[in-house]
Amino acid sequence: MPDLRTVTLLGATGSIGTQTLQVVAAAPDRFRVAALCSGGSDIPALAAAAAAVEAEAVGISRHDGLAELRAAIAAVWPAGRALPEIVAGPLAAAELAARPADVVLNAVAGSQGLRATLAALEAGTVVALANKESLVAGGPLVLERAAPGQLVPVDSEHSALAQCLRGGAPSEVAKLILTASGGPFRGWTRDRLAQVRPEQALAHPTWAMGPLVTTNSATLINKGLELIEAHLLFGIGYDRIDVVVHPQSAVHSMVEFVDGSTLAQASPPDMRLPIALALAWPDRVPGAAAAVDWATAQTWTFEPVDEEVFPAIGLARLAGSSGGSAPAVFNAANEAAVEAFLEGRATFLDIVDTVEAVLGLWLSREHVASGNPRTVEDVETVDRWARAHAREALAASSR
Ligand code: MG
Repeated sequence: MPDLRTVTLLGATGSIGTQTLQVVAAAPDRFRVAALCSGGSDIPALAAAAAAVEAEAVGISRHDGLAELRAAIAAVWPAGRALPEIVAGPLAAAELAARPADVVLNAVAGSQGLRATLAALEAGTVVALANKESLVAGGPLVLERAAPGQLVPVDSEHSALAQCLRGGAPSEVAKLILTASGGPFRGWTRDRLAQVRPEQALAHPTWAMGPLVTTNSATLINKGLELIEAHLLFGIGYDRIDVVVHPQSAVHSMVEFVDGSTLAQASPPDMRLPIALALAWPDRVPGAAAAVDWATAQTWTFEPVDEEVFPAIGLARLAGSSGGSAPAVFNAANEAAVEAFLEGRATFLDIVDTVEAVLGLWLSREHVASGNPRTVEDVETVDRWARAHAREALAASSR
């Protein structure tokens, strides 16, 4: 019988967070959520989730929601049970991540998840990482602090790669092949993409996710981030990581070995499988999700990425192989551009064009010579630089 693992859940009211709560509720003998935290946009949902697991600590990253959170918790807390400790403010996630736990599942959206990842690593806790941006932006910092096995992927593609990598020795690995759904605009031309409105970008064909990652899936920036994430997690060179479009999202990624054999991990699209595996790693959780139904006829297709229409993956490859803070620039420029797009201040094509312009500016100024970021402040400085230049580029292009 596996031991009960205590879980700290960061980003509890988002898509990954709510599915993590389902995984935990379905396996109460294996997991217990002891602390949870969210940005604070849906305080009643956070309070309800905290009450359901009788959490010991609850946090929000907004300062101003403290009174509302206290009241919401008091309203739903089971009678006679000890009230949780409550923390509020930008450092709440990092504070909770530093508390003793077996696993911190970091599902914070965007590069703001970095401090929490580092806090959990420093506390010696396993980090189940759903926040790929913290790894992309703070790569060198995170890798420096992570002991072998301390970072466990939650992303379906990286979970698939980790599973397939069990099939051979490191020296036998020829290539990683990341699969991409291709997003809602697969097969479109650049002219058509110019007309895309936010509500179209927010309708993803296979996965239900938050607005940032859904937009990133439509531009293929998400796959670019995943390419960098795969390099950092598995230590495989960018020249040995390929991306292939697979619209059915049944094969979540593959590993090709030196003898020509390819191992693929397949399951219907359901994040509860990689979440459960990450929480229990290296063990599997029986019944975590449904398996492929081989009694029903189905077709799985694979096609190359149209890099002309979707240059995001090539830009990620450039950022990743340039090293230093270039991946942080790639990510921050994108976050600023996505924000502008969702607020109607930029077109869909502006997003990747902005990333290209800001990354180009960073590389041309030889900022790379400054080397790897050494502190979170270094990463934040680069992050602000990239956001400011992204906003400037967007303002210039809308004039
Ligand atoms: Mg993914």
